Amino acid sequence: MPKTKFIFVSGGVMSSVGKGIAVASLSKLLQSKGYRVVPVKCENYLNVDAGTIRPAEHGEVFVCDDGIETDQDIGTYERFLDLSLSRDNFITMGLVYQTVIQRERNFGYEGEDVEAIPHLCDEIINRIKEAGRKSRADIVVVELGGTAGEYQNIFYYEASRIMKLRNKDSVLHVHVAYLPTPPTVGEMKSKPVQTSVHLLNSMAIQPDFIVARAQRPVDRKRRERLAMFCNMDGDDIISNPDLDSVYEVALKFDEQNFADRILKRFRLKPKGRDLDDWRQLAETVKSAAAPLPIAVVGKYFSTGDYVLGDVYVSVLESLKHAGWYHGVKPELHWVDSEKIEADGAAKHLAGMAGLVVPGGFGSRGVEGIIQAIQYAREQKIPYLGLCYGMQLATIEIARHLAGLDEANSTEINSKTKQPVIHIMPEQEKKLLKRDYGATMRLGAWDCEVVRGTKAYEAYGKTDISERHRHRYEFNNAYKSKLEKVGLVISGTSPDGHLVEIVELKDHPWFVGVQFHPEFKSRPLRPHPLFRDFIGAAVAQLNSTAGTEKSS
Ligand code: GLN
Repeated sequence: MPKTKFIFVSGGVMSSVGKGIAVASLSKLLQSKGYRVVPVKCENYLNVDAGTIRPAEHGEVFVCDDGIETDQDIGTYERFLDLSLSRDNFITMGLVYQTVIQRERNFGYEGEDVEAIPHLCDEIINRIKEAGRKSRADIVVVELGGTAGEYQNIFYYEASRIMKLRNKDSVLHVHVAYLPTPPTVGEMKSKPVQTSVHLLNSMAIQPDFIVARAQRPVDRKRRERLAMFCNMDGDDIISNPDLDSVYEVALKFDEQNFADRILKRFRLKPKGRDLDDWRQLAETVKSAAAPLPIAVVGKYFSTGDYVLGDVYVSVLESLKHAGWYHGVKPELHWVDSEKIEADGAAKHLAGMAGLVVPGGFGSRGVEGIIQAIQYAREQKIPYLGLCYGMQLATIEIARHLAGLDEANSTEINSKTKQPVIHIMPEQEKKLLKRDYGATMRLGAWDCEVVRGTKAYEAYGKTDISERHRHRYEFNNAYKSKLEKVGLVISGTSPDGHLVEIVELKDHPWFVGVQFHPEFKSRPLRPHPLFRDFIGAAVAQLNSTAGTEKSS
């Protein structure tokens, strides 16, 4: 069997230029050539995982089946490559230090003095190789966090250099760097990229390819300059201009034979697969036209628009996937729940074809969310509640249908007399000890879906598995009271103890799930719940259009 190959991808000039998308697209392209490609993300921070980082600061916390709490890039890889990843694919500097220090405490270094170099680098190298070995990868694509020249990621770069030194034919370095076009100058400048490559050179790293991110395609002049001053062949500079959708990046790379050039360096041949379904997807994305107004209500919304897409990226993507399936374009209206508290729900939600309440924590803005859910229930607007969205829907139904006026979650009011959502004793112990890291109910849990429900209609089967990330649960003491007023418990853990899905009788589509289906939706395979939610929203829009016409 040929040896596993490794591609390191670094960033240059500045962050947020789409390094993650470039890595995912390159991986997709290599996958389309018939190879088993496995991505690995290296994070610079000292958090052991992403679970304790505020989303408004770092974007969504993505969760894999094995319960690891990761960065949103892992979600991008899963969606692009249609893979299910795990803790093997995610490395943080905190995890690297923690492992090395723990090993030292266990006398694992047998008296050696433990140093950043080589011990941290060895740990990084071992983890990267292990990721390849465990998944029997042909090619491991490693995304180095941050940009070249930061102190924080230096050991990752050093690890990549050592791996290449030890195994010249099996390791490549791709540098994704940005060519700015200053408006006052009006032309694309290549100097920052040259400087960035020189920074790599100062670490004894010579990139094999440059991915030239820019507003427009790199022209000949810029390509020649980069080739000349970065010691490279002009054909190894791959143009990556702004495109209409991220799904076109892989196609752009393919036009420039990016994967074939890489395979040639590895002395591998392209095997007979293609990118046809991806090409089809890029077309669909372009052509899905009919706008479908969907409200997303939550907190975290006051931080400025650009953050939102990052905080709820998987929810956003899942809605898009479902939209493409139905040939519509979900037009998202982000509504800050505190605005609903101030103005009432109708002002912000009238005319919406559907309402989504995504996951969340803490008590700020929850009353506004509950008002929004009440509006969707009463106006018969399709509703999808994700995790917190399921818990808050339960509270709304308890308060307004079952007459439990004080119904609440103990997360919001620890002294509530009607705790319809409560915490399990083992979770409570963890909170008392301030044991916050990786201690929620996390990762894949089996669920049994009840026949004859909306959930069953969507999944078409009774045995499912979904990913979780929460501490609080539905309180079974209120089960029968709530069922009497129309709540349907349509999914539970196989032992029946944990309520996983609730819905509402006599409503076109009202479903709340204790888990996060958004982590398992794929561009070409929308998640069944999102698919049916958007289907119901389309029907809702058509029916209101019909009423307007006839009135
Ligand atoms: N705050 C709720 C809990 O911990 C919901 C969490 C979530 O939405 N991810 O149970």
